[in-house]
Amino acid sequence: MPVTRFIGIHPLWTPRPTRPVIALVGAGPRGVSLLERIGANLADFPDIDHLDIHVIDDTELGAGRIWRTDQTRQMCMNTLAGAVTLFTDDTVTMAGPVAPGPTLFEWCRLALDAARPSPSSAIQVADIDPAHRAAFASTAVRPGFVDDYRDELEAMTVATHPSRALYGEYLRWCFARALHTLPERVRVATHLARAVGVREDAGRQLVELSTGAVLACDAVVAATGWLPRDHTAEEHGFLAVLARHPEMTWVRPDNPIDQAIGAVPDGATAIVRGLGMGFFDVMTLLTIGRGGRFVDDPLTRAGVRYEPSGREPKLYVTSHRGVPYRAKSLYGSLPPSAPQRHLRSVDWSAVPRPIDFDRQVWPLIVKDAFVDYYETLHRVRPEAFAAPLTTVLATIDTTDGVPAALDAAIAPHVPDATDRFDLPAAMSPVRGAFPDPGSFTARVADYVADDLTESAKGRDSAVKAGLWSISAARRLANAIGTFGGFDAESRASGFRTLQTFGGMVGSGPPAFRSRQLLALVDAGLVRFVGPAARVVADDELGLFRAESPAVAGSAVTGAVLIDAWMHAHDVTASADPLTLSLAAAGRIRPFSVRGRDGRRHPTGGFDVDPRTGLLVHPDGTRDAAFHVAGIPLDEVMGDTIISPMPRSDPTMLRETDRVARSALRVAADAATSVPTWRESHVSPMFNG
Ligand SMILES: Cc1cc2nc3c(=O)[nH]c(=O)nc-3n(C[C@H](O)[C@H](O)[C@H](O)COP(=O)(O)OP(=O)(O)OC[C@H]3O[C@@H](n4cnc5c(N)ncnc54)[C@H](O)[C@@H]3O)c2cc1C
Repeated sequence: MPVTRFIGIHPLWTPRPTRPVIALVGAGPRGVSLLERIGANLADFPDIDHLDIHVIDDTELGAGRIWRTDQTRQMCMNTLAGAVTLFTDDTVTMAGPVAPGPTLFEWCRLALDAARPSPSSAIQVADIDPAHRAAFASTAVRPGFVDDYRDELEAMTVATHPSRALYGEYLRWCFARALHTLPERVRVATHLARAVGVREDAGRQLVELSTGAVLACDAVVAATGWLPRDHTAEEHGFLAVLARHPEMTWVRPDNPIDQAIGAVPDGATAIVRGLGMGFFDVMTLLTIGRGGRFVDDPLTRAGVRYEPSGREPKLYVTSHRGVPYRAKSLYGSLPPSAPQRHLRSVDWSAVPRPIDFDRQVWPLIVKDAFVDYYETLHRVRPEAFAAPLTTVLATIDTTDGVPAALDAAIAPHVPDATDRFDLPAAMSPVRGAFPDPGSFTARVADYVADDLTESAKGRDSAVKAGLWSISAARRLANAIGTFGGFDAESRASGFRTLQTFGGMVGSGPPAFRSRQLLALVDAGLVRFVGPAARVVADDELGLFRAESPAVAGSAVTGAVLIDAWMHAHDVTASADPLTLSLAAAGRIRPFSVRGRDGRRHPTGGFDVDPRTGLLVHPDGTRDAAFHVAGIPLDEVMGDTIISPMPRSDPTMLRETDRVARSALRVAADAATSVPTWRESHVSPMFNG
């Protein structure tokens, strides 16, 4: 990664530097955006003549841990190429200036055109916003990039799912561009290291790195993404059994490419917990990653057939609901925007907090889903209606937003029950008891096949339209509920259901992955255990054991358990050394939300000041220097996980602008404070 200006080597004893120092801990998408926003906002802070910035990450700087470019290209993004950007536009609600740049898709097109210009590539880049083209032209793409990704770049459309490594390349370019656009008076040092602690000394922040270096800073921003947490009681139990049974393998929850998937023996029987995105990654790593192949086969219901290598384990999979996340719809373009007329009909800023989500918000989300379902159904199957669409929409308007009530009110107008929106069935796809494991797996496979049929209909699937409306409502609901907007009770009930159900129906895998799953079921390599299976580490047998109460005879044992998901961080049970050092210094407390009885309920997120991202201390005072941004605030702020989408006022870009400005404010204060003679602690070790 080219870095234009490095901080020079400081002698051990110096006058207080007149140039203030900001440390950015974490150089994934958010860290890169923070750097870009610091540069974009600098002109608003005339007190800062000069500025030093430390960028710290122990994984590839710019890409960060999730998107590092050395990972297998089999790992693909969940989002679409045209739906990702790291640049601001005029939709972003922020104090700082807009600095436009290409989306991931545009960047790929421009890179291909620059490296291999052709009449067709010229046409493809011609309609890209000139400001985006200018930003692209200002910073060179890594030599060899286009050759390394040629096939993927040539096949890419706005609606393809890019490899994670490719997104990492884009992020690294965004990082390089952010560095190059900083004015001369800003110097940047990069550190391939972990920040393992922070302490205060004479008004400065001493950030300790895993290399032993200590960086003296005025402001710190931690954009640290997915942080480790302590083992749960169940996990401690697993570890105790594993200590006695080295033949057992437990693959712990983590980022799939960081999980010990290689420790799963060839041909093993593996119990897998989780049927979300982590599962599809694990499935890919254990099949294609072990030499198997998916081959197009129109004679199969999946449309693909699996050709095994013989090395793949047999997977027995369970999750809370027992069924996989639904496949993404094949729109052939970016997803439609859900109108959400009912949810948007309320001026939520005027509604007193905390809001009872279950009573005030969820019914509107349900109504919007019914509207989208019936509007789509009317477009594709008008013969299903015994009354005009306007009658159905008016019925939805005047009926309580309760699925059963809406269904009963609509029934006279859409008489055939199979034409109607069965939201409860979608929320609990495998209700009831199953007589044997085979019938349960067959039921889930049919569910996946049906879902793929709906996915292939794109905008013409009424059920997908209704479910997409619910999934899309998460964004607005998160904005309404941000910083304690919902009461503790509804956060634990309806709001949680919206998050999990919305994730299941809207944040699922690309359709081709669901096809592959179906092919693996048909090849006998994947079996579904049943919903809410109990998983134990059996000390006597030296095996893991899973059994679902809903499926007779579902008990299965195996020497391997794979947890295909990631823990949410919890400040009260953190295993992150930096968080622990803040806790030891009494600088953090968990964010808490109000219950209906007025009592406070702690969450797992850091309490921060909403306007700046500065930590809030246990006594309620605001920290002077330490900011937290992003995923460790998910329970506080909401909507922290998804990468920014173009022209959507993304939460991430609003946050990075806000926090960058706060860091600059702290730096400006430091720049204007009286110089004092003291130890600088700035390490002479720098790397690029
Ligand atoms: C497997 C997986 C797939 C995903 N797919 C998608 C997707 O398709 N689309 C989407 O929108 N989102 C996806 N996400 C969500 C994704 O996390 C965000 O899109 C994005 O990466 C968040 O950016 P971030 O910079 O806040 O966090 P991260 O990307 O996690 O970056 C944080 C960085 O901080 C570093 N760090 C942490 N602690 C320290 C420390 N103490 N010292 C130094 N460095 C530190 C880490 O090494 C890491 O590089 C996915 C997440 C995962 C786990």
